[in-house]
Amino acid sequence: MFGARCRRLGLAIVMGVGMAVAVGQPFHLPTRNQALFETGGAARYFAPTAVGDWTSGLYGCVRSNGGQFHEGIDILHEHTNRQGEPTDPVFATADGRVAYVSSNPSLSNYGIYIIVEHQVDGIEIHSIYAHLSAVEPGLRVGARVRAGQALGTMGRTANTRSTISKERAHLHFELAIRLSDRFTAWQKERYKGQRNDHGEFNGRNFLGLDPIDVFREQAARQSHFNLATMMRGQAELCRVLVRKTNLAILQRLGPLVERNPRAEREGTAGYELALNYAGVPCRIVPRAPSEIAGRKDGDVLSVNEKELREHRCRDLVTRSGKGWQLARSGTQLLDLLTY
Ligand SMILES: [Zn+2]
Repeated sequence: MFGARCRRLGLAIVMGVGMAVAVGQPFHLPTRNQALFETGGAARYFAPTAVGDWTSGLYGCVRSNGGQFHEGIDILHEHTNRQGEPTDPVFATADGRVAYVSSNPSLSNYGIYIIVEHQVDGIEIHSIYAHLSAVEPGLRVGARVRAGQALGTMGRTANTRSTISKERAHLHFELAIRLSDRFTAWQKERYKGQRNDHGEFNGRNFLGLDPIDVFREQAARQSHFNLATMMRGQAELCRVLVRKTNLAILQRLGPLVERNPRAEREGTAGYELALNYAGVPCRIVPRAPSEIAGRKDGDVLSVNEKELREHRCRDLVTRSGKGWQLARSGTQLLDLLTY
């Protein structure tokens, strides 16, 4: 199970020894730090939070005693200048196109950050590189980048009151799905008066996968790695029904949409979304009107209780009488997906 894998991650990383990312595979590590693939290297790879150990730099329910979600990984610096500031270059994780550059560190808890859009195995995925000290000169939105190409320099930028110390300087790295094409309008309507300095590239319009899962699966499967297959294989937390058909993720996650002959015959009235514990879709099933008669938009069709017990930081679903209903983050996620 996914949860068990999380707890065994230290071991899993050791198992990754000798399976460093090879040519011909889509994803490269985003810095020169290779300790991820070295025995006992995790403490040299992941940056801890101010109060935690290296496991707080992992993805998932790793903070506040399991109650807080970290949507990416924090990769520790290896090199500093005389002032003790990190100097590690940051590289594009895969071939892609620069989608967004935020150069004003005061506008985000990500500080200076870059988002690159990738098409991998029919999946549109974005990589996010945060807390940079500088963006590579001349790098502009729209520019094509190759895997391994320098994007900028690691730093400690953020607009939060608590700062990142020199010892903990790191790259916050995400591999994320973009949820909506209408985030700006959605936020304006749902959160009246709240600032949005980043338009469609606001962090809340992205939902991260576990990058370590991706790197590890790629190392294990070598040239047989397929991102869509990996995503379909994730443990499901729940299945929910949306009675709408205009979801932007249908295009972005095309290979996750399953065939349903009945919906092909009768037409599609909605979609059943299988979500992992973070809310990332694993499978998308078109449903015919006759299959979902009497069902409401947002109905929770099933819940994997073991998965829910093991990951309790996301608040996607909650008990309701004998059944289940969407909880606060689940409702918000579905609202944004279908807006
Ligand atoms: Zn982080």
